[in-house]
Amino acid sequence: MKPASPAITVDVEDWPQSTWDRSLPISPRAADNTNHLLDLLAELDVRATMFVLGKFARVHAGVVRRMLAEGHEVASHGDGHVEVNRLTPEEFARDLERSKSVLEDITGEPVRGYRAPDFSIGRENLWALDVLAESGFTYDSSIFPIRNRRYGVPDWPRGPARVRTAHGTELVEFPISTLRFLGRNWPLGGGGYQRLLPGSIFRMLAGTAMRRGPFVFYCHPYEFDPDEFDALDFEVPARVRLHQGLGRRRVADRFRAFVRRFGGCRPIDLCRPSDWPVYHPVRDAAPQ
Ligand SMILES: [Zn+2]
Repeated sequence: MKPASPAITVDVEDWPQSTWDRSLPISPRAADNTNHLLDLLAELDVRATMFVLGKFARVHAGVVRRMLAEGHEVASHGDGHVEVNRLTPEEFARDLERSKSVLEDITGEPVRGYRAPDFSIGRENLWALDVLAESGFTYDSSIFPIRNRRYGVPDWPRGPARVRTAHGTELVEFPISTLRFLGRNWPLGGGGYQRLLPGSIFRMLAGTAMRRGPFVFYCHPYEFDPDEFDALDFEVPARVRLHQGLGRRRVADRFRAFVRRFGGCRPIDLCRPSDWPVYHPVRDAAPQ
């Protein structure tokens, strides 16, 4: 059987604000980059899920309306890009409400999906899934089943699952895709590995992962912008430029080749939630 197309997910934000200084305003460049990516998705005839930061939506509502008009799903990336593991449950609920209300005011449609800034939902703050369900979200895509210095739940199920929390709520989780190799999970669904691996190797590995189950890919509009660091009006250390900027010049062509080969869809198009296994993070031994 032919594997399903990968879910294409985009975290819509502004690199200086989300990564450098949370107090910065959202720049016009963030809208330009997002419009360029929407042009590319239109060229490829693919509908994606856009996890939009509330702070972005407040200044670039027209870009959010364009997403909806072109068939993309508008979901939430929170409001201010503060990591969930730095918030109390009450602060998280307020951040969710702010982002959800601005997005719903713009689109007139309910927001159902959420992705945390920097994948900041882990074992220590799984209460966040209860807050999401109580706030009206039906799915989450914040858990990266890897071991990383800053984030990750290495023993989380690697495919979509209906998560039953300790408090009895249920939410579908779409983890970012990984590759199992040498006894551990490696990030494959996006970020540095995707930018730095040769394109043909990345597509070969992604194809292997897709034969195992649904594939969730993520990217940011700024990753398609090779000139951003030269245009900033503040100095970014060489180490950060290298880590965050390397490979950007190739990203658009590689994305084109990836989508032309495998297609693309929104996570909610992958299959019926009832088809997915149920996972109790507290009770179950995690499958690999
Ligand atoms: Zn983000």
